[in-house]
Amino acid sequence: MFKVGPVHMFEKRFNELAARHLTRRLTPLHSGVGPVVEMAGRHILLLASNDYLGLAMHPEVIQSAIEATQRFGAGAGAARLISGSLPPHQELESALAQFKGTEAALTFSSGYLANIGTIPALIGLGGLILADRLCHASLIDGCRLSAADFRIYRHNDTSHLQSLLAKRRRARRTLIVTDGLFSMDGDLAPLPELSRLAQDYEADLYIDDAHGTGVMGPHGRGTAEHFGLDTQIPFQMGTLGKAFGSSGAYLAGPSTLIRYLMSTNRSFIFTTAPPPSSAAAVATALRVMQREPERRARLWANRERLFSGLTQLGFSLSHSVSPIMPILVGNAETALTFAENLFAEGVYAPAIRPPTVPDATSRIRVTVTSEHTPSHIDHALTAFQRAGQSVGLI
Ligand SMILES: *Cc1c(COP(=O)(O)O)cnc(C)c1O
Repeated sequence: MFKVGPVHMFEKRFNELAARHLTRRLTPLHSGVGPVVEMAGRHILLLASNDYLGLAMHPEVIQSAIEATQRFGAGAGAARLISGSLPPHQELESALAQFKGTEAALTFSSGYLANIGTIPALIGLGGLILADRLCHASLIDGCRLSAADFRIYRHNDTSHLQSLLAKRRRARRTLIVTDGLFSMDGDLAPLPELSRLAQDYEADLYIDDAHGTGVMGPHGRGTAEHFGLDTQIPFQMGTLGKAFGSSGAYLAGPSTLIRYLMSTNRSFIFTTAPPPSSAAAVATALRVMQREPERRARLWANRERLFSGLTQLGFSLSHSVSPIMPILVGNAETALTFAENLFAEGVYAPAIRPPTVPDATSRIRVTVTSEHTPSHIDHALTAFQRAGQSVGLI
């Protein structure tokens, strides 16, 4: 039995959050992920998933997960460094290194874990971390877990970053931390300028390309490839639960770095290895992704169709240049009503509120995938028009 005291306190706090429209609840699906899903007993057009290339439900990807489970078991049975390094993990890490054009790669159970372990392993006491204000929560938590000092620079503001670099103590070890493609805004980090600043001020650059991997660049190698900087950024992290359709994360880089991280990164060391099925699924997803570049072409065509339709309707889509399109609303309550009205029209795109985004910047976060059809997108546009008018946004 709980003591009455704490329960009462949490109830009070929960009610305070609810009054500010900041409580959260699950929105369960009754089907797998896809362009159309089952929710609340209805078929709903899904504009919320990060399965950008439709690989989560790809028959070959699913088959390889089944086969890996049959051969290697439902779980790895131990941490990677104990006895949990199975053939699918090894194969995946070499395939990812090859894909990213690096000497080596290390995989993690999730992007959240990769960031909270890697950043403290890369920089500690005496160091300085400079992170973009809109960095993903896992990067911020990684920065907080490091013993280094930690400062925020204004979003994509390279002059602000430069002034912080110029002000620091001479020769102080510095790590610049940014998303490649920002998860809630859909805009890109100015990697060429960041990379130049890093060189000029002898800092290291860490990019989290969770949303860029598979999506950006001529071969889908990510935001660095998009900018032609493939080999110039030492620390490139990405996730395997988004365009790769499964789960996990990677860090790609020089083999010395990877060997060092294997011995020092706490979120790699002190956790059970990812299940063989997910490593095998990702390796297959990577092959399908490379073999079928038309998936990325469809993704971008869908993005253009939806983006231009929403813009013509009069929505403000911020600086989005990607399949992530935030419709800025401002107020959390209006964002929730907008999302409810969309749902009534048969479309699910979530309201994103603080603390995921800064105060007064609540939004509807819209994502498209390669699997949507032009008629799905036209249906979505009708729904957005009606729902947007009903909350007075357009
Ligand atoms: C989703 C995301 C993560 C977390 O990755 P998971 O594998 O879902 O834990 C980290 N960084 C960014 C930028 C993300 O968008």
